[in-house]
Amino acid sequence: MRNFTKPRIVYSACLNSEPVRYDGGIIKDSFALKLKEYCEIITVCPEVSIGLGVPREKIIVYVEENRLGIYQPKTGLDLTDKILDFSENFLNTLPEIDGFLLKSKSPSCGLSNTMIYKDREGKIFHSKGKGIFAQKVLEKFPYIPAEDEGRLRNPEIRERFLTRIFALSELRNLKNKDNTKVKDLIEFHQNNKYLLMVYSQKHLKELGNLLANQSKYPFEELIEKYALLFKEALSTNLKRGNHVNAIFHIYGYFSRKLKAGEKNHFLHLLDLYRRAKINLSPLVEILRSWAYRFDDQYLLNQTYLNPYPNELSYIE
Ligand code: SF4
Repeated sequence: MRNFTKPRIVYSACLNSEPVRYDGGIIKDSFALKLKEYCEIITVCPEVSIGLGVPREKIIVYVEENRLGIYQPKTGLDLTDKILDFSENFLNTLPEIDGFLLKSKSPSCGLSNTMIYKDREGKIFHSKGKGIFAQKVLEKFPYIPAEDEGRLRNPEIRERFLTRIFALSELRNLKNKDNTKVKDLIEFHQNNKYLLMVYSQKHLKELGNLLANQSKYPFEELIEKYALLFKEALSTNLKRGNHVNAIFHIYGYFSRKLKAGEKNHFLHLLDLYRRAKINLSPLVEILRSWAYRFDDQYLLNQTYLNPYPNELSYIE
């Protein structure tokens, strides 16, 4: 069984935590709340951190010469420099982290669907996009998963986010443990073989080559290089066909031991998944059950079949 380490997550303070919204409210989100139990949380409220009170007058995002700014129409205050300075300082002084979970639509934290205006009064709509703090997060941490609670209601986005934060957390812990040896890194790599195969065959090969040439590097350098490539691998766009290949590959471990009806049923589900008619999870669940049934330790150790704690796969 995989022992999960706690991902370290930066989390918008108004999500289930502190009443820091402009109206003094707090956002209740059941999945974000559940996730808190499994993570080490660093809360942040960029607006309160730059000295805005609670409650406060609304602020809006505007765009001028392709740059985002933040303005408070009621007070006439332009807060752009303050929030950019805060974001820079805050993000530069963070410890190593595994993900960001931010509040959707916010002028500061929104990673998607934030209203952006052409004017400072917020009267002429320009587009929907990112808040100003969120934009800095994405610039500074291109390989760290960042999502908002709104996007995480989509099962595929949620699954991917969870998979990545738990994988990065395990690697971070391995990197920071005192007695980690090359053999531990090799074991980590073996356990992530199918996960990497799904995300990026190119990175799987590069990481394998790096480990094959491990004697060329001091261990600290080796694991840093490995971690960078691993994070990059897990940021690539997922393709349905890659899942189909990996699943078919794993199915090959069991196919000769299965009854004809089981095989037909599984291949039918795989075809439905390939045609985007069903989600991935039933296929992974079946493969995991077979790994238990046939006591296949190699597959039971694969993070692809056990990417995050089971309790996070459903929302109450
Ligand atoms: S969305 Fe961000 S800035 Fe707005 S209240 Fe929440 S934590 Fe603070």
